Amino acid sequence: MSQTPDFEPNAFSDSMPDQESQSQHFDTIALRTGHQRTHEGEHGEPIFLTSSFVYHSAADAADHFSNKKKGNIYSRFTNPTVRMFEERLAALEGGERCVATSSGMGAILAIALAFLKAGDHVVCSRAVFGTTTALFDKYMRKFGVNVTFVDLTDLNQWQNAIESGTTRLFFCESPSNPLSEVADLTALANLAHQHDILLAVDNCFCTPALQQPLKFGVDLVIHSATKYLDGQGRALGGAVVGSAQLLEEVFGVIRTCGPSMSPFNAWIFVKGLETLRLRMEAHSKSALQLAEWLQAHPAVETVFYSGLKSHPGHLLAKQQQRAFGGIVSFIVKGERQAAWAVIDQTRFISITGNLGDAKSTITHPATTTHGKLPAEAKAAAGIVEGLLRVSVGLEDIEDIKADLARGLNQLV
Ligand SMILES: *Cc1c(COP(=O)(O)O)cnc(C)c1O
Repeated sequence: MSQTPDFEPNAFSDSMPDQESQSQHFDTIALRTGHQRTHEGEHGEPIFLTSSFVYHSAADAADHFSNKKKGNIYSRFTNPTVRMFEERLAALEGGERCVATSSGMGAILAIALAFLKAGDHVVCSRAVFGTTTALFDKYMRKFGVNVTFVDLTDLNQWQNAIESGTTRLFFCESPSNPLSEVADLTALANLAHQHDILLAVDNCFCTPALQQPLKFGVDLVIHSATKYLDGQGRALGGAVVGSAQLLEEVFGVIRTCGPSMSPFNAWIFVKGLETLRLRMEAHSKSALQLAEWLQAHPAVETVFYSGLKSHPGHLLAKQQQRAFGGIVSFIVKGERQAAWAVIDQTRFISITGNLGDAKSTITHPATTTHGKLPAEAKAAAGIVEGLLRVSVGLEDIEDIKADLARGLNQLV
């Protein structure tokens, strides 16, 4: 980023972090990377709400369209505000390039369209976002792509699922939704690469503030920017981060198939990234306190939070993550009725399927986010009737506990 306003019309750089930002630290990147100040000398990042761009002359237009000159053509391809978000997130993830998408699902669809063809095979963790399961199981199958679902933490299952010559993609979330299972990312990446398979990891729960999957050999990082990257529940968006070579393929899909990010939403995410680390630390601190408190509550059977020493993924999470994130799930004694009672006794915690918001939210996965899964798949993913998921917000932790205690105390 230049300090002096030296704007050139149609100035354009690749969506790659510049040299300087590669040597900077996370917090500086989060606030500074990607903004190429215009001739107006604006301090805050501008929103370019424009669908298309103009040229000096017919020849200039021809040069842009033939790729002789780099520059914006149309906002389905590139837009300066979207590029700002892409450069900042790429730098935060330690990736060469980022491509922004209209939503998290748009990002997953984009990698599927970019890297899979009829006859190919995907191995996917059972413990992924419900809609991700549907994307592979329902829609990708329509195009002749087969999928095998395996247990996130059982490397043998991943290995055994590989079909030689056709398996092209491994897909998982770590930590998983909603049970906070932790994948050994280095081991998965090694296994994938032995067989020429790409490993994509949905980093939605940790964000780069807590985990940078590319450092463990992961090929593609997926984001639903809708969650923590925004952090205040305002806008839908997504992103894919990885090497310049792989991301060129993803960019081709976005440009041609259309799930591009809105410049307005990109601006929201750019501002969200500025406070990402502070927020993730605060979410993690409160979530750990809540998990410990729930574990001691007599109405609670099990707590799933990788920050707890009793969690099977605790040591791995400690190696891979800077903290344990803001999502705490737990099983209450008494099945659906008890779980719903806890939800209905809350006074301020939002009853919603969303997560990763500054406001705490509570969800009953079995009847909402995972409600469409067939019974078998639900059971395999550990989505039981007594399960609740709390996305721990930035309210005072004592108030959050009190809001949950009202319902929980009635169960004992
Ligand atoms: C929400 C979510 C998605 C989908 O993102 P959208 O922005 O809603 O399309 C994907 N993965 C995870 C882990 C999510 O929580």
